[in-house]
Amino acid sequence: MDSESVLHDAWDREHLWHPYTSTIDPLPTYKVASAEGAVIRLADGTELVDGMSSWWCAIHGYNNERINRAAEAQLSKMSHVMFGGFTHEPAVELGKALLEVAPPSMHNIFYADSGSVAVEVAMKMAVQYAISASGSHAKTNFATIRSGYHGDTWNAMSVCDPVTGMHGAFGLALPVRYFVPQPRSRFDGEWNPADIEPMRSLIEEKHDELAAVILEPVVQGAGGMWFYHPEYLRQVRELCDRYGVLLIFDEIATGFWRTGRFFAWEHAGVEPDIMTIGKGLTAGYLTMSAVLTTQNVADTISRGEAGVLMHGPTFMGNPLSCAIAVESLKMLREQDMEGRVKHLAEVMRRELAPAAGRPTVADVRVLGSIGVVEMKRSVDVGKFQRECVRRGVWIRPFGRNVYIMPPYVITDEQLCFLCRNLLEIIADEENY
Ligand code: PMP
Repeated sequence: MDSESVLHDAWDREHLWHPYTSTIDPLPTYKVASAEGAVIRLADGTELVDGMSSWWCAIHGYNNERINRAAEAQLSKMSHVMFGGFTHEPAVELGKALLEVAPPSMHNIFYADSGSVAVEVAMKMAVQYAISASGSHAKTNFATIRSGYHGDTWNAMSVCDPVTGMHGAFGLALPVRYFVPQPRSRFDGEWNPADIEPMRSLIEEKHDELAAVILEPVVQGAGGMWFYHPEYLRQVRELCDRYGVLLIFDEIATGFWRTGRFFAWEHAGVEPDIMTIGKGLTAGYLTMSAVLTTQNVADTISRGEAGVLMHGPTFMGNPLSCAIAVESLKMLREQDMEGRVKHLAEVMRRELAPAAGRPTVADVRVLGSIGVVEMKRSVDVGKFQRECVRRGVWIRPFGRNVYIMPPYVITDEQLCFLCRNLLEIIADEENY
């Protein structure tokens, strides 16, 4: 077999749908044989230094011995058992560990299947809370900011950016939400008080209709890779409190030290009423998410007409996922993660800085272990990735953003290699 047919599976190309890819003219997909640490090994032996952590998940790298052992130990007891009517040690242990690191007011935890489902559950919680607290069905809508991303299910889609998100494809089939411009004050810059005005006007005018405001705190991920000023969160919190609107923080991408703090809310010091987590929760091993909320929200829902939160997925509280998450949290606790992420940020800041001087680059920014090179025009993902694979790195750009968020175990040498290749690829427009 030639290298082409080893790397690009013809059956896969014909039958398997990959994310956001045409069936007629699909983007290239590369066959992976194995992965270890920060290296992904392709079927033809090519090794790629991973810059994506498999979309924010594989925080400890791949094929981690400790997590493998924890998974095997749990497998030998049970992989799954229904959560309706049963509980188990991994679920309890994980819940306790999560409350230790969550905002102090979090009290109740709902385990869900994926990030998008966690967002659905959070939005359902907010609506059920508002109905129960107000005794009316008026406060059932949501407000958010432009350039956000919250997932691919129906309600999650409805609060993604209405232009770059999926509203175009689904039109009026989607519920109509309120959007205001994103804050333009940079995370590390001066706070511009004008940034809050659109959200202030909206909440003042529409609070009777709003169940909640939903935001990705500090870092907007897939919708724009934008890092905004924490003051925005403090002011939104005040507005929500004043007008009786819940605040949901979607920490699915930002959690587990990615922004330099355990969770991104810590940059602002204000707590949400409801918080979604996922991705790094299970260190890239299995799909699982959680929705955390206050006792007030949980109990108000329970005092409502329905008497219960209306959600209960089949794989809720999956023991194997919980056991993996427990081990991953232990590993995070045992390390100086603040120092680790600070170091990764320093290396990225230094290595990516030269990109700022390029005429094709609009902006370079680093926060925690996230490095972004924003280009002036959209990047051709297929072309870009072909060049990545040729050079032995793995980066998947989105829109105008070429970004990396490597596994925390990446070595300095690997990280420098990754950044250097990123710079060399963008230096030649032929590559993208
Ligand atoms: N919220 C945010 C902030 C995300 O980044 C993502 C995933 N990119 C999601 C929700 C959806 O998570 P999932 O893909 O696991 O459904």
